[in-house]
Amino acid sequence: MLYALLCIEIVARVVLEVRECRLTGCRFGFFAVLRLLPLVNDIVPLPESRAEVPQSRFVNFHEEAHRALHHAVLRNLVKIVFLMCAVWFLASLLVRMQMPIWQAILWLHLAAIPFRTFFHYYCWNQECEADRYALSKTDRKMAKAAMRDLSLCEIPRTLLFALIYREHPPVALRRKRLLNK
Ligand SMILES: [Zn+2]
Repeated sequence: MLYALLCIEIVARVVLEVRECRLTGCRFGFFAVLRLLPLVNDIVPLPESRAEVPQSRFVNFHEEAHRALHHAVLRNLVKIVFLMCAVWFLASLLVRMQMPIWQAILWLHLAAIPFRTFFHYYCWNQECEADRYALSKTDRKMAKAAMRDLSLCEIPRTLLFALIYREHPPVALRRKRLLNK
């Protein structure tokens, strides 16, 4: 069962990478291979932008929104809850089911995938909330300019790929949610 699920995971990630390369024209590189490997893909970093995002009033208000709405604290709370779930899950596999530790860790890796995806979705909502706050403090013109700057710095990813791997929503989605109302 464990091996079957791990095989499914690898196949699903291969499909995701191939789809990503076809849709964004990116290269199937070294990091793409690392992302296919269970456990390794939990720690491979994914660069989100190619350049520093230029400062603007919109960006400053966006950051102010994160502070005013306690986004970092909330993210850490969610992480702590998930961490406690992980400890409980691991302990029950090791103690109650007497599973060898390497198997328990692989199970935990699999079980964490939906939780991580949910966490990304949660972060995306925070980013959009901060965008709305920044828009309310500035205007549509500044928001548009900031989104254009952001999209020039961003490494383009599809929605599905970003949801699996990124804590920031793609700029295209942010622009759509913010300005197409
Ligand atoms: Zn943000």
